[in-house]
Amino acid sequence: MVSETLEKVRLELRKAVKFLNLSENVYEKLSSPDRLIETNLPVRMDNGEIKYYKAYRSQHDNTLGPYKGGIRFDNNTSKNDLVALSIWMTIKTAIVGVPFGGAKGLISVDAKKLSDNEKENLSREYVRSMYKYLGGNLDIPAPDINTDSKVMAKMLDEYEIITGMEDRSMITGKPVLLGGSKGRTEATGYGIAVIVEQVSKYLKSSKEVIVQGFGNVGSYTCKHLFDKGFKIIAISGRDKDGEYAIYNKNGLNIDTLIKNKDNGKELKDYLDKEIIKIDKFWQLKADVLIPAAVSNVIDDKKAKLINTPLIVEAANGPTTNEGDKILNEKGIKIIPDVLANAGGVIVSYFEWVQNNQGLYWSREEILEKEESIIIESFNNINNFRLDNNVSFRDSAYIYAVKKLYDALLLKGYV
Ligand code: NAD
Repeated sequence: MVSETLEKVRLELRKAVKFLNLSENVYEKLSSPDRLIETNLPVRMDNGEIKYYKAYRSQHDNTLGPYKGGIRFDNNTSKNDLVALSIWMTIKTAIVGVPFGGAKGLISVDAKKLSDNEKENLSREYVRSMYKYLGGNLDIPAPDINTDSKVMAKMLDEYEIITGMEDRSMITGKPVLLGGSKGRTEATGYGIAVIVEQVSKYLKSSKEVIVQGFGNVGSYTCKHLFDKGFKIIAISGRDKDGEYAIYNKNGLNIDTLIKNKDNGKELKDYLDKEIIKIDKFWQLKADVLIPAAVSNVIDDKKAKLINTPLIVEAANGPTTNEGDKILNEKGIKIIPDVLANAGGVIVSYFEWVQNNQGLYWSREEILEKEESIIIESFNNINNFRLDNNVSFRDSAYIYAVKKLYDALLLKGYV
């Protein structure tokens, strides 16, 4: 069964191919992965038993460079969702002009039920089953949901043991000590903050922001916006009792919230706030809404509630097709995920470059370089949108598909 996520990305590809008046075979090429690897991983559990886990790697396209994309440990992502995520990576890397293609990996597992030791066994087993398809010039994984720099370190080690060679560039999002890049952890949130600043200037809006989710992307987005003088008036979260939001019309102190988070506290534990019901959060009047949690949250019902003139998609695929339609009808501008959250892959590219040249840059250099790519990409997509009278999302897809088509043509594939 085709997932909603895959339908969504295929619809955008279809629209772009039609807009550019390209032949059906361009759609056929881009709507499916070049290769979808599926394996059954035997993993030694702490009780001594072997358990099997399904694992996948969707290598969507390498026309513009080696396959690139995260690996997630998750049992809420289907094989078709994974294909959609790998297509998004191809579109994203084409938009920001880093020399990569698109891929994504998945192990179907409830990561919370694994011990550290079991997680390590799973990580190493994934590399054992996939190593022939991975490499710095072939396919480069990175962290994603429930995987982090520690998981990347184990995967790198396993890869180097099997191949007998050092190749730090085969994976990004590593610990800095093992060749990771400074600034990588905050890169996606920083990129979102830069985009929000650009669009706010452009739309001449003021600076009140509401954010869904306070994980890696949400918290760094808030932190950098806070430092740039934006006022974050509400943040939503989820705990065992469900979803809720914290609100302060004068703005939340993000430094305190981050300190709390580092000390294992919840959003709720922040003192200077009002707790509001989740429906009220979605109806708040502000300048910008940033969904930074999970996919498919802004459906038709939520879209009807939303009261902000601008949405910047920090999560991957937070808006459903129906939600998108309603938001467009309401005249709400949406900066799509494929542009907005590209900061992570931009700094992954810097990590790869640093690994290949053996020369490392400071955090300030990294963020400065990231900022200039984000601003240039935003301007490209915005200018294309204005020239062609399309939405930001359509503009982003058309821009990327045109680039991919031109490269496919040069190589003789279309
Ligand atoms: P994360 O796991 O660190 O954070 C997600 C946060 O959202 C968690 O704090 C979780 O409690 C919260 N959450 C979950 N459901 C929620 C709900 N219904 N309402 C409110 N909060 C909710 O993950 P992350 O790395 O911050 O990623 C967030 C999103 O950004 C994902 O869609 C991911 O694919 C996307 N993304 C991440 C990166 C990156 O570099 N980490 C890059 C590009 C895109």
